[in-house]
Amino acid sequence: MQVRWNFKLKPNQSQIARMSEWLITLRKHRNYALRERETGYNTNNQNADIPISYAFGSFCDLESKFEYGASCPLTCPVVKHGVIPDNLSLALKTSKGAIKWDTALGIQMKVTTQLRHKYLSFGDINSDVLQRNIAKLDTAFNNFWKHGRGFPKYLPKLDSFEYKPGQVKLINFIDSYATVYLPGIGNVKMFNSRDLSKIQEIRTCTVKRSASNWYISMLLEIPGELPELRCEINSVVGIDVGVNKLVALSNGSFIENIRVTTNARTARRFVIRQRAASRKVNGSKNKAKAYQKLAKTQHKLSQKRDGYNWQAASKIVKTADAVGREDLKITNMVKRAKPKHDGKGGYLKNRAGAKTGLNKVILDCGWGDLFNKIAWLANKLGKPVVAVNPKYSSQECPKCKHIDKKNRSGEKFICTNCQYTNHADTKASRTIAKKVGLVFPKKIKKTLPPDWGKVTPVKISTPFGVESRNHALEQLNTQLNLFDLTQ
Ligand SMILES: [Zn+2]
Repeated sequence: MQVRWNFKLKPNQSQIARMSEWLITLRKHRNYALRERETGYNTNNQNADIPISYAFGSFCDLESKFEYGASCPLTCPVVKHGVIPDNLSLALKTSKGAIKWDTALGIQMKVTTQLRHKYLSFGDINSDVLQRNIAKLDTAFNNFWKHGRGFPKYLPKLDSFEYKPGQVKLINFIDSYATVYLPGIGNVKMFNSRDLSKIQEIRTCTVKRSASNWYISMLLEIPGELPELRCEINSVVGIDVGVNKLVALSNGSFIENIRVTTNARTARRFVIRQRAASRKVNGSKNKAKAYQKLAKTQHKLSQKRDGYNWQAASKIVKTADAVGREDLKITNMVKRAKPKHDGKGGYLKNRAGAKTGLNKVILDCGWGDLFNKIAWLANKLGKPVVAVNPKYSSQECPKCKHIDKKNRSGEKFICTNCQYTNHADTKASRTIAKKVGLVFPKKIKKTLPPDWGKVTPVKISTPFGVESRNHALEQLNTQLNLFDLTQ
Protein backbone atom coordinates (compact mmCIF):
# COMPACT_ATOMS: atom_id res chain seq x y z
CA MET A 1 0.00 0.00 0.00
CA GLN A 2 1.31 3.42 -0.90
CA VAL A 3 0.92 6.13 1.73
CA ARG A 4 2.24 9.61 2.27
CA TRP A 5 3.57 10.34 5.72
CA ASN A 6 4.63 13.78 6.89
CA PHE A 7 7.23 14.39 9.57
CA LYS A 8 8.63 17.49 11.14
CA LEU A 9 12.37 17.89 10.69
CA LYS A 10 14.75 19.25 13.27
CA PRO A 11 17.66 20.55 11.18
CA ASN A 12 20.62 22.37 12.76
CA GLN A 13 21.52 25.96 11.89
CA SER A 14 23.99 25.11 9.10
CA GLN A 15 21.51 22.69 7.52
CA ILE A 16 18.79 25.35 7.61
CA ALA A 17 21.16 27.86 5.98
CA ARG A 18 22.06 25.35 3.27
CA MET A 19 18.46 24.41 2.50
CA SER A 20 17.38 28.06 2.38
CA GLU A 21 20.25 28.77 -0.03
CA TRP A 22 19.14 25.89 -2.22
CA LEU A 23 15.59 27.19 -2.35
CA ILE A 24 16.76 30.60 -3.55
CA THR A 25 18.82 29.08 -6.40
CA LEU A 26 16.07 26.63 -7.32
CA ARG A 27 13.51 29.42 -7.54
CA LYS A 28 15.75 31.50 -9.80
CA HIS A 29 16.49 28.47 -11.94
CA ARG A 30 12.82 27.59 -12.31
CA ASN A 31 11.81 31.14 -13.19
CA TYR A 32 14.65 31.40 -15.72
CA ALA A 33 13.63 28.14 -17.38
CA LEU A 34 10.03 29.34 -17.50
CA ARG A 35 11.05 32.62 -19.13
CA GLU A 36 13.15 30.68 -21.66
CA ARG A 37 10.20 28.55 -22.69
CA GLU A 38 7.85 31.50 -22.83
CA THR A 39 10.23 33.41 -25.10
CA GLY A 40 10.67 30.28 -27.19
CA TYR A 41 6.94 30.15 -27.76
CA ASN A 42 6.39 33.87 -28.29
CA THR A 43 9.14 34.33 -30.87
CA ASN A 44 8.36 31.18 -32.79
CA ASN A 45 7.30 31.87 -36.36
CA GLN A 46 6.96 35.60 -35.73
CA ASN A 47 8.73 38.60 -37.24
CA ALA A 48 9.48 36.56 -40.34
CA ASP A 49 11.18 39.52 -42.06
CA ILE A 50 13.84 39.96 -39.44
CA PRO A 51 16.78 37.64 -39.91
CA ILE A 52 17.62 36.03 -36.59
CA SER A 53 20.58 33.83 -36.00
CA TYR A 54 20.35 31.40 -33.10
CA ALA A 55 17.48 33.31 -31.63
CA PHE A 56 14.48 31.62 -30.16
CA GLY A 57 12.21 30.31 -32.83
CA SER A 58 14.58 30.58 -35.72
CA PHE A 59 14.33 27.50 -37.84
CA CYS A 60 17.43 25.70 -38.81
CA ASP A 61 18.37 23.17 -41.39
CA LEU A 62 20.43 20.72 -39.44
CA GLU A 63 22.40 19.35 -42.37
CA SER A 64 23.56 22.63 -43.87
CA LYS A 65 23.52 24.31 -40.42
CA PHE A 66 21.83 27.26 -42.04
CA GLU A 67 19.27 29.30 -40.09
CA TYR A 68 16.20 31.09 -41.33
CA GLY A 69 14.00 33.66 -39.66
CA ALA A 70 10.83 31.67 -39.97
CA SER A 71 10.77 30.42 -43.48
CA CYS A 72 9.59 26.87 -43.50
CA PRO A 73 7.64 25.41 -40.62
CA LEU A 74 7.73 21.97 -42.25
CA THR A 75 11.44 21.56 -41.66
CA CYS A 76 11.32 23.28 -38.32
CA PRO A 77 12.47 20.98 -35.57
CA VAL A 78 11.44 23.33 -32.80
CA VAL A 79 8.35 22.44 -30.85
CA LYS A 80 6.03 25.28 -29.96
CA HIS A 81 7.20 25.67 -26.39
CA GLY A 82 10.74 24.54 -27.21
CA VAL A 83 14.01 26.19 -26.34
CA ILE A 84 17.24 26.64 -28.26
CA PRO A 85 20.50 26.44 -26.30
CA ASP A 86 23.62 28.50 -27.02
CA ASN A 87 25.41 25.37 -28.08
CA LEU A 88 23.36 23.65 -30.77
CA SER A 89 24.80 20.23 -30.06
CA LEU A 90 22.92 20.23 -26.75
CA ALA A 91 19.66 20.37 -28.66
CA LEU A 92 20.20 17.05 -30.37
CA LYS A 93 19.74 13.55 -29.07
CA THR A 94 20.34 10.14 -30.54
CA SER A 95 17.47 7.73 -30.34
CA LYS A 96 17.49 4.36 -32.12
CA GLY A 97 20.51 5.36 -34.21
CA ALA A 98 18.88 8.52 -35.61
CA ILE A 99 19.74 12.05 -34.57
CA LYS A 100 16.68 13.97 -33.40
CA TRP A 101 15.78 17.33 -31.93
CA ASP A 102 15.43 16.95 -28.17
CA THR A 103 12.42 18.06 -26.15
CA ALA A 104 12.49 21.29 -24.16
CA LEU A 105 12.83 19.24 -20.96
CA GLY A 106 15.77 17.28 -22.36
CA ILE A 107 17.56 20.44 -23.51
CA GLN A 108 17.01 22.30 -20.25
CA MET A 109 18.24 19.32 -18.25
CA LYS A 110 21.46 19.16 -20.27
CA VAL A 111 21.96 22.90 -19.80
CA THR A 112 21.39 22.43 -16.07
CA THR A 113 24.20 19.90 -15.92
CA GLN A 114 26.49 22.46 -17.55
CA LEU A 115 25.43 25.10 -15.03
CA ARG A 116 26.60 22.83 -12.20
CA HIS A 117 30.16 23.02 -13.51
CA LYS A 118 29.93 26.74 -14.12
CA TYR A 119 28.43 28.18 -10.94
CA LEU A 120 29.12 27.28 -7.33
CA SER A 121 25.55 27.85 -6.21
CA PHE A 122 24.35 25.27 -8.74
CA GLY A 123 27.20 22.86 -8.09
CA ASP A 124 26.24 22.92 -4.42
CA ILE A 125 22.81 21.48 -5.04
CA ASN A 126 22.22 17.76 -5.42
CA SER A 127 21.95 17.10 -9.16
CA ASP A 128 18.70 15.12 -8.90
CA VAL A 129 17.05 17.89 -6.89
CA LEU A 130 17.91 20.31 -9.71
CA GLN A 131 16.57 17.92 -12.36
CA ARG A 132 13.34 17.35 -10.40
CA ASN A 133 12.91 21.12 -10.21
CA ILE A 134 12.92 21.36 -14.03
CA ALA A 135 10.80 18.23 -14.39
CA LYS A 136 8.13 19.79 -12.15
CA LEU A 137 8.02 22.82 -14.41
CA ASP A 138 7.67 20.51 -17.42
CA THR A 139 4.69 18.81 -15.74
CA ALA A 140 3.11 22.23 -15.18
CA PHE A 141 3.67 23.03 -18.86
CA ASN A 142 2.16 19.77 -20.04
CA ASN A 143 -0.84 20.37 -17.80
CA PHE A 144 -1.29 23.73 -19.50
CA TRP A 145 -1.02 22.37 -23.06
CA LYS A 146 -2.75 19.03 -22.69
CA HIS A 147 -5.11 19.29 -19.74
CA GLY A 148 -6.33 22.87 -19.96
CA ARG A 149 -4.80 23.99 -16.68
CA GLY A 150 -3.47 27.49 -15.99
CA PHE A 151 -0.18 28.77 -17.35
CA PRO A 152 2.73 28.14 -14.93
CA LYS A 153 3.40 31.11 -12.69
CA TYR A 154 6.60 32.91 -11.85
CA LEU A 155 7.27 32.16 -8.22
CA PRO A 156 8.13 35.02 -5.90
CA LYS A 157 8.98 32.38 -3.29
CA LEU A 158 9.74 28.68 -3.55
CA ASP A 159 9.17 26.57 -0.46
CA SER A 160 9.92 22.99 -1.41
CA PHE A 161 12.34 20.71 -3.22
CA GLU A 162 12.06 17.09 -4.15
CA TYR A 163 14.24 13.96 -4.12
CA LYS A 164 13.91 11.09 -6.57
CA PRO A 165 12.85 7.65 -5.25
CA GLY A 166 15.45 5.70 -3.32
CA GLN A 167 17.70 8.65 -2.48
CA VAL A 168 16.51 9.54 0.99
CA LYS A 169 17.46 6.96 3.62
CA LEU A 170 16.39 6.37 7.18
CA ILE A 171 19.53 5.97 9.26
CA ASN A 172 18.13 4.96 12.61
CA PHE A 173 15.03 5.42 14.69
CA ILE A 174 14.13 5.11 18.31
CA ASP A 175 10.74 5.81 19.88
CA SER A 176 10.10 9.42 19.07
CA TYR A 177 13.22 10.34 17.12
CA ALA A 178 14.72 9.33 13.82
CA THR A 179 17.61 10.41 11.65
CA VAL A 180 17.08 10.78 7.95
CA TYR A 181 19.82 11.11 5.35
CA LEU A 182 19.16 13.81 2.75
CA PRO A 183 21.77 13.77 -0.06
CA GLY A 184 23.60 17.09 -0.18
CA ILE A 185 22.30 18.18 3.23
CA GLY A 186 23.45 15.40 5.52
CA ASN A 187 21.89 13.55 8.42
CA VAL A 188 18.89 15.46 9.69
CA LYS A 189 17.00 14.75 12.91
CA MET A 190 13.30 14.10 12.56
CA PHE A 191 10.38 13.91 14.98
CA ASN A 192 8.82 10.49 14.61
CA SER A 193 5.16 9.80 15.24
CA ARG A 194 4.75 6.51 13.34
CA ASP A 195 5.94 2.94 13.24
CA LEU A 196 8.89 3.32 10.90
CA SER A 197 9.85 -0.37 11.02
CA LYS A 198 6.89 -1.06 8.72
CA ILE A 199 8.45 0.83 5.78
CA GLN A 200 9.32 -1.40 2.83
CA GLU A 201 10.45 1.23 0.36
CA ILE A 202 10.98 4.99 0.37
CA ARG A 203 9.86 6.65 -2.85
CA THR A 204 9.69 10.36 -3.72
CA CYS A 205 10.40 12.69 -0.80
CA THR A 206 9.60 16.38 -0.63
CA VAL A 207 11.23 18.76 1.84
CA LYS A 208 8.99 21.71 2.67
CA ARG A 209 9.36 24.96 4.53
CA SER A 210 6.37 26.45 6.30
CA ALA A 211 6.86 29.65 8.29
CA SER A 212 10.20 28.76 9.95
CA ASN A 213 9.47 25.05 10.28
CA TRP A 214 10.80 22.32 8.04
CA TYR A 215 8.88 19.18 7.10
CA ILE A 216 9.52 16.11 5.04
CA SER A 217 6.72 14.43 3.12
CA MET A 218 7.55 10.84 2.21
CA LEU A 219 5.80 8.63 -0.28
CA LEU A 220 6.18 5.14 1.19
CA GLU A 221 5.42 1.55 0.46
CA ILE A 222 4.06 -0.26 3.53
CA PRO A 223 2.57 -3.78 3.83
CA GLY A 224 -1.17 -4.32 3.57
CA GLU A 225 -3.77 -3.30 1.04
CA LEU A 226 -6.72 -0.94 1.14
CA PRO A 227 -9.94 -2.90 1.73
CA GLU A 228 -12.35 -3.50 -1.14
CA LEU A 229 -15.47 -1.37 -1.19
CA ARG A 230 -18.21 -2.83 0.96
CA CYS A 231 -21.01 -4.69 -0.76
CA GLU A 232 -23.52 -4.35 2.01
CA ILE A 233 -24.67 -0.82 2.71
CA ASN A 234 -27.10 -0.49 5.60
CA SER A 235 -26.99 3.22 6.22
CA VAL A 236 -26.17 6.40 4.41
CA VAL A 237 -25.32 9.74 5.97
CA GLY A 238 -25.81 12.91 3.97
CA ILE A 239 -23.72 15.95 4.79
CA ASP A 240 -24.43 19.56 3.98
CA VAL A 241 -21.46 21.87 4.39
CA GLY A 242 -22.18 25.46 5.26
CA VAL A 243 -20.89 28.65 6.77
CA ASN A 244 -22.95 28.96 9.96
CA LYS A 245 -22.55 25.30 10.84
CA LEU A 246 -19.53 23.65 9.22
CA VAL A 247 -21.41 20.42 8.61
CA ALA A 248 -25.03 19.38 9.12
CA LEU A 249 -25.44 15.62 9.22
CA SER A 250 -28.63 13.90 8.12
CA ASN A 251 -28.98 12.35 11.60
CA GLY A 252 -29.73 15.81 12.95
CA SER A 253 -26.36 16.53 14.53
CA PHE A 254 -24.00 19.36 13.63
CA ILE A 255 -20.32 20.09 13.51
CA GLU A 256 -19.68 23.66 14.55
CA ASN A 257 -17.68 26.08 12.45
CA ILE A 258 -14.84 27.38 14.60
CA ARG A 259 -13.91 30.00 11.96
CA VAL A 260 -10.20 29.52 12.42
CA THR A 261 -8.99 32.70 10.73
CA THR A 262 -12.18 34.73 10.39
CA ASN A 263 -13.47 34.75 13.96
CA ALA A 264 -13.48 38.20 15.53
CA ARG A 265 -10.39 37.63 17.67
CA THR A 266 -7.99 36.19 15.10
CA ALA A 267 -9.26 38.43 12.30
CA ARG A 268 -8.48 41.47 14.43
CA ARG A 269 -5.07 40.11 15.40
CA PHE A 270 -4.30 39.53 11.74
CA VAL A 271 -5.23 43.05 10.76
CA ILE A 272 -3.05 44.50 13.52
CA ARG A 273 -0.01 42.37 12.67
CA GLN A 274 -0.39 42.95 8.95
CA ARG A 275 -0.64 46.71 9.41
CA ALA A 276 2.35 46.74 11.75
CA ALA A 277 4.43 44.75 9.26
CA SER A 278 3.51 46.89 6.28
CA ARG A 279 4.45 50.09 8.13
CA LYS A 280 8.02 49.00 8.89
CA VAL A 281 10.83 50.43 6.75
CA ASN A 282 11.25 48.57 3.48
CA GLY A 283 14.16 46.16 3.44
CA SER A 284 14.78 46.49 7.16
CA LYS A 285 15.36 43.62 9.57
CA ASN A 286 12.34 44.70 11.57
CA LYS A 287 10.09 44.30 8.55
CA ALA A 288 11.40 40.78 7.92
CA LYS A 289 10.82 39.94 11.58
CA ALA A 290 7.27 41.30 11.52
CA TYR A 291 6.39 39.24 8.45
CA GLN A 292 7.98 36.19 10.04
CA LYS A 293 5.68 36.68 13.02
CA LEU A 294 2.66 36.96 10.72
CA ALA A 295 3.66 33.79 8.86
CA LYS A 296 3.98 31.94 12.17
CA THR A 297 0.45 32.93 13.16
CA GLN A 298 -0.89 31.79 9.81
CA HIS A 299 0.95 28.49 10.05
CA LYS A 300 -0.40 27.85 13.54
CA LEU A 301 -3.97 28.54 12.46
CA SER A 302 -3.78 26.40 9.34
CA GLN A 303 -2.56 23.54 11.53
CA LYS A 304 -5.51 24.10 13.83
CA ARG A 305 -7.91 23.87 10.89
CA ASP A 306 -6.15 20.75 9.67
CA GLY A 307 -6.60 18.99 13.00
CA TYR A 308 -10.20 20.08 13.39
CA ASN A 309 -11.11 18.90 9.88
CA TRP A 310 -9.54 15.47 10.55
CA GLN A 311 -11.74 15.11 13.61
CA ALA A 312 -14.83 16.23 11.72
CA ALA A 313 -14.10 13.83 8.84
CA SER A 314 -13.57 10.97 11.24
CA LYS A 315 -16.88 11.66 12.97
CA ILE A 316 -18.75 11.76 9.65
CA VAL A 317 -17.22 8.58 8.26
CA LYS A 318 -17.91 6.62 11.46
CA THR A 319 -21.61 7.59 11.38
CA ALA A 320 -22.73 5.34 8.53
CA ASP A 321 -21.70 2.82 5.85
CA ALA A 322 -21.71 5.38 3.06
CA VAL A 323 -21.34 9.15 2.83
CA GLY A 324 -23.27 11.41 0.47
CA ARG A 325 -22.02 14.90 -0.15
CA GLU A 326 -22.70 17.75 -2.53
CA ASP A 327 -20.55 18.01 -5.64
CA LEU A 328 -19.50 21.60 -5.06
CA LYS A 329 -17.39 23.71 -7.41
CA ILE A 330 -15.73 25.76 -4.70
CA THR A 331 -13.54 27.80 -7.06
CA ASN A 332 -16.70 29.02 -8.78
CA MET A 333 -18.34 29.86 -5.46
CA VAL A 334 -15.58 32.20 -4.35
CA LYS A 335 -15.42 34.33 -7.48
CA ARG A 336 -15.74 38.04 -6.86
CA ALA A 337 -18.99 39.91 -7.44
CA LYS A 338 -19.70 40.92 -11.03
CA PRO A 339 -19.89 44.65 -11.76
CA LYS A 340 -23.41 46.00 -12.35
CA HIS A 341 -23.77 48.46 -15.22
CA ASP A 342 -26.39 51.18 -15.00
CA GLY A 343 -26.55 51.64 -18.79
CA LYS A 344 -25.12 55.16 -18.71
CA GLY A 345 -21.50 54.19 -18.55
CA GLY A 346 -21.52 54.06 -14.76
CA TYR A 347 -21.89 51.35 -12.18
CA LEU A 348 -24.48 50.41 -9.59
CA LYS A 349 -23.67 49.07 -6.14
CA ASN A 350 -23.06 45.33 -6.34
CA ARG A 351 -22.20 44.53 -2.72
CA ALA A 352 -18.68 43.51 -3.71
CA GLY A 353 -17.37 44.10 -0.18
CA ALA A 354 -19.90 41.72 1.34
CA LYS A 355 -19.11 39.07 -1.26
CA THR A 356 -15.38 39.38 -0.56
CA GLY A 357 -16.11 38.90 3.15
CA LEU A 358 -18.21 35.83 2.42
CA ASN A 359 -15.47 34.42 0.18
CA LYS A 360 -13.00 34.74 3.04
CA VAL A 361 -15.34 32.84 5.35
CA ILE A 362 -15.94 30.12 2.72
CA LEU A 363 -12.22 29.65 2.18
CA ASP A 364 -11.69 29.59 5.94
CA CYS A 365 -13.99 26.55 6.25
CA GLY A 366 -11.74 24.42 4.06
CA TRP A 367 -14.56 22.39 2.51
CA GLY A 368 -12.36 20.93 -0.23
CA ASP A 369 -9.82 19.86 2.37
CA LEU A 370 -12.59 18.32 4.46
CA PHE A 371 -13.92 16.38 1.45
CA ASN A 372 -10.43 15.02 0.74
CA LYS A 373 -10.06 13.89 4.33
CA ILE A 374 -13.47 12.19 4.28
CA ALA A 375 -12.54 10.44 1.02
CA TRP A 376 -9.30 9.10 2.47
CA LEU A 377 -10.80 7.91 5.78
CA ALA A 378 -13.73 6.29 3.95
CA ASN A 379 -11.29 4.63 1.55
CA LYS A 380 -9.41 3.10 4.46
CA LEU A 381 -12.63 1.55 5.77
CA GLY A 382 -13.94 0.50 2.34
CA LYS A 383 -16.91 2.87 2.56
CA PRO A 384 -18.11 4.64 -0.59
CA VAL A 385 -18.46 8.42 -0.83
CA VAL A 386 -20.99 9.65 -3.38
CA ALA A 387 -21.00 13.22 -4.68
CA VAL A 388 -24.50 14.29 -5.73
CA ASN A 389 -25.75 17.20 -7.78
CA PRO A 390 -26.30 20.10 -5.35
CA LYS A 391 -29.10 21.66 -7.39
CA TYR A 392 -32.14 22.60 -5.22
CA SER A 393 -30.83 20.64 -2.23
CA SER A 394 -31.66 23.60 0.00
CA GLN A 395 -35.00 24.49 -1.65
CA GLU A 396 -36.69 21.16 -2.27
CA CYS A 397 -39.20 19.89 0.29
CA PRO A 398 -38.30 16.30 1.23
CA LYS A 399 -41.96 15.50 1.94
CA CYS A 400 -43.89 16.81 -1.08
CA LYS A 401 -40.96 17.57 -3.46
CA HIS A 402 -42.15 21.20 -3.74
CA ILE A 403 -39.29 23.44 -4.92
CA ASP A 404 -39.48 27.09 -3.91
CA LYS A 405 -36.94 29.72 -2.94
CA LYS A 406 -39.32 30.96 -0.23
CA ASN A 407 -39.22 27.57 1.50
CA ARG A 408 -36.11 28.70 3.25
CA SER A 409 -36.05 31.57 5.68
CA GLY A 410 -32.76 31.97 7.52
CA GLU A 411 -31.95 28.82 9.48
CA LYS A 412 -35.49 27.46 9.20
CA PHE A 413 -37.03 25.45 6.43
CA ILE A 414 -40.80 25.77 6.10
CA CYS A 415 -42.47 24.27 3.04
CA THR A 416 -44.91 26.77 1.52
CA ASN A 417 -46.96 23.87 0.17
CA CYS A 418 -47.25 21.33 3.01
CA GLN A 419 -45.80 23.19 6.02
CA TYR A 420 -43.03 20.63 6.62
CA THR A 421 -40.56 22.18 9.08
CA ASN A 422 -36.95 21.43 9.94
CA HIS A 423 -33.58 23.07 10.44
CA ALA A 424 -32.62 24.23 6.95
CA ASP A 425 -29.16 22.62 6.93
CA THR A 426 -30.36 19.34 8.40
CA LYS A 427 -33.10 19.28 5.79
CA ALA A 428 -30.55 19.84 3.02
CA SER A 429 -28.36 17.02 4.33
CA ARG A 430 -31.36 14.69 4.36
CA THR A 431 -32.17 15.62 0.76
CA ILE A 432 -28.57 14.84 -0.14
CA ALA A 433 -28.75 11.46 1.63
CA LYS A 434 -31.93 10.71 -0.32
CA LYS A 435 -30.34 11.70 -3.58
CA VAL A 436 -27.64 9.12 -2.86
CA GLY A 437 -30.30 6.51 -2.23
CA LEU A 438 -32.21 7.35 -5.38
CA VAL A 439 -29.28 7.34 -7.73
CA PHE A 440 -27.77 4.33 -6.08
CA PRO A 441 -26.59 2.14 -7.68
CA LYS A 442 -28.14 2.90 -11.05
CA LYS A 443 -26.31 6.07 -12.02
CA ILE A 444 -22.97 5.44 -10.37
CA LYS A 445 -22.68 1.89 -11.68
CA LYS A 446 -19.71 2.75 -13.86
CA THR A 447 -17.47 3.67 -10.98
CA LEU A 448 -18.34 0.68 -8.82
CA PRO A 449 -17.53 -3.02 -9.10
CA PRO A 450 -20.14 -5.09 -11.01
CA ASP A 451 -21.59 -6.87 -7.96
CA TRP A 452 -22.83 -3.54 -6.67
CA GLY A 453 -25.75 -3.86 -9.05
CA LYS A 454 -27.25 -6.41 -6.68
CA VAL A 455 -27.59 -3.92 -3.88
CA THR A 456 -30.90 -2.14 -3.94
CA PRO A 457 -31.15 -0.02 -0.83
CA VAL A 458 -34.60 1.30 -1.58
CA LYS A 459 -35.54 1.71 2.03
CA ILE A 460 -32.82 1.71 4.55
CA SER A 461 -32.86 2.13 8.27
CA THR A 462 -30.27 1.45 10.91
CA PRO A 463 -30.84 -0.71 13.97
CA PHE A 464 -29.03 1.72 16.23
CA GLY A 465 -30.59 4.94 17.35
CA VAL A 466 -28.72 8.07 16.60
CA GLU A 467 -28.06 10.69 19.17
CA SER A 468 -29.63 13.91 18.10
CA ARG A 469 -28.37 17.36 18.93
CA ASN A 470 -31.05 19.17 17.02
CA HIS A 471 -33.10 20.95 19.68
CA ALA A 472 -36.25 20.83 17.58
CA LEU A 473 -36.06 17.06 17.46
CA GLU A 474 -35.13 16.71 21.12
CA GLN A 475 -38.37 18.35 22.10
CA LEU A 476 -40.32 15.74 20.18
CA ASN A 477 -38.17 13.11 21.87
CA THR A 478 -37.95 11.05 18.73
CA GLN A 479 -34.95 9.25 17.44
CA LEU A 480 -34.31 9.46 13.77
CA ASN A 481 -33.31 6.68 11.50
CA LEU A 482 -30.35 7.74 9.46
CA PHE A 483 -31.99 7.11 6.21
CA ASP A 484 -35.72 7.07 6.05
CA LEU A 485 -37.32 7.53 2.69
CA THR A 486 -40.87 7.81 3.99
CA GLN A 487 -40.41 11.19 5.61
ZN1 LIG B 1 -43.67 20.26 1.28
